[in-house]
Amino acid sequence: MLDLIIRGGQVVTPMGVGEWDVAVQGEKIVAVAAPGTLPDEGARVIDASGTIVVPGGIEPHAHISAPIMGHGDLKTAPPAEVSRAALFGGTTTLLDFAIQYPGIDIPQAIQERTTEWQGNSYADYAHHLMLLGAIPPEIFGSIHEAVEDGHPTIKIFTTNIRPPATTGEPRMVGTGHLHDLMVEIQKMNAMLLVHSEDDDMVQHMYQKLAREERTEWYNMHLVHSAESEDVSFRRVLRVAEWTGAPVYFVHVSATQGLQNILEARSNGRPVYGETLHNYCCFGAENYKEENGMKYHTYPSLKSEDDRQSLWNGIVNNGLSTMATDEYCTSWETKIAGRTVSDVTGGHNGAEARMGVTYSEGVSRRGMSLQRFVDVTSANAAKIMGLYPRKGVLAPGSDADITLIDTNFKRKLTINDFHISDYSIWEGFEADGWPVTTLLRGNVVVEGGEFKAVAGSGKFIPRKIDPAVTNRPVA
Ligand SMILES: [Zn+2]
Repeated sequence: MLDLIIRGGQVVTPMGVGEWDVAVQGEKIVAVAAPGTLPDEGARVIDASGTIVVPGGIEPHAHISAPIMGHGDLKTAPPAEVSRAALFGGTTTLLDFAIQYPGIDIPQAIQERTTEWQGNSYADYAHHLMLLGAIPPEIFGSIHEAVEDGHPTIKIFTTNIRPPATTGEPRMVGTGHLHDLMVEIQKMNAMLLVHSEDDDMVQHMYQKLAREERTEWYNMHLVHSAESEDVSFRRVLRVAEWTGAPVYFVHVSATQGLQNILEARSNGRPVYGETLHNYCCFGAENYKEENGMKYHTYPSLKSEDDRQSLWNGIVNNGLSTMATDEYCTSWETKIAGRTVSDVTGGHNGAEARMGVTYSEGVSRRGMSLQRFVDVTSANAAKIMGLYPRKGVLAPGSDADITLIDTNFKRKLTINDFHISDYSIWEGFEADGWPVTTLLRGNVVVEGGEFKAVAGSGKFIPRKIDPAVTNRPVA
C-alpha cells in the first residue's frame, strides 16, 4: 500500500517534465507514473495542481553554528534555526563545514560537527572538511579515511580573505600545499572545493585603500576584485591540470571566473562552478545604499556585467550550482562592520535560494525546469556524492520533494522569512515560490505551517561517482 501520492503537478524528472503522479512509501519514492494509474486506496493524496514538483533543494555551501570572524565567541545561526528556514524554502539537505583548526585532527573536527548537529536538525545534512593554512603531513595522511567514511569533499582557501590584523586563523593554503593536496585528492574519488582569490592582490588592495583613506565598505569589490579571481582561478586550474585533480570553485563572482571554468570544461576537465543567489541579484552598486554592507558575501558583489554573466552561467551553461554561502547573523551583527576590513559576509540565504532561482531563472529568464532542478538540487547531489539518493524524483530515491506554487506572485515581506530579524530579500518580487516540502516522505511544510519533528534530520554519508571526478558531468 502507498502512503502518499502527489497528484496534478508538473513533475520534473531527468526523463522530462509531465503531469505525473509521484508515489511515496515510507521514506522513499516508489513510482512516478501516469495520472490515475496508481492504487490510491488508503494513501494520502496531495493535490499539487498549480505547482511544479521538484526534488528537495540541496544547499551545497552553508556556514552553520560557525564562529563569526571578528566577533569573539559569537556564532552564526545553529542547525535547528537554519534547517527550519531551509525547509520553509524547499531546501531539504544542507552541507556545512567541519573545520580542522590547528591543534585538532580531522576526526575531531568531524566529531565537533556531529555534536553540533546530531538531534538538532530538521533537515538532512552532511559536512565538507575544511583545511586551513599550512596543512601538516599527518593531516594529509588522514584525508583518505575521512573520504572513505563518507566525507568526500575538502575545502581550502587560496587567500586569508581579510587583512592580517582581523583574519583569525590563517586560512590561505599556499600553492605548494595546494599541489600536494591535489595529488592526494586525485587518488580518491574526492572533490576539492576552492575559495579562489589571489592573496597578494587582495592584501595589496587592503593596504592601498588604507593608505588612501578609502576603507569604506562599498569599496569591497576593489579588494576582492575580478582580476584577483581571474588570476587565482588560472593558477588553481594549472595546478589541477598538472595533478589531474577535480575542482569545484565556490562562489564564482565574475565573468572571468566563469570563462575560466567554461574553458576548462570544454577541455573535458572535471571542473565545476558555484555562484550565489545574492551575486546574481545584486551588484557592487548596491553597496552604496544606506547599510549597503547588508548585501555582502566574500569575495564581493561585482559589476552589472558580471551579474548578467552569472545568470547566463546558471540559466544556460558553465555554472553547476546555485548556493548561498549561508552565514546567518542578526541585523545588528551584520551591519556592525563599516570598513573593507571588518564587514561581515553572508546571509540568511538557504530559505530564499529555491524561490529566488525560480522567480529570476525560470519565470523571468526562461530557464528550463530541468535546468532549475540541476542548479538547485541534482548537480549538487552529483558533485558532492549524494546522488541518486538525493537530487532526483525517481523510484528508490529519498522522498525529498518540494512543490513550487506558480501562482505565488507578490512582493516578499519580512514575514515570509523564518530566521533572523532581517532579509536582503525583503521587497523581492516573487514569481513562483516553494509552499510545500517533504523530507523522506514526511510533510514538513504545508499551508504555511511547520510540521517537522525536532531532530528528525539525518546525517547523510556521501560517495562521489568516479564519472564526476573524471569529466565535467554536472
Ligand atoms: Zn563560505
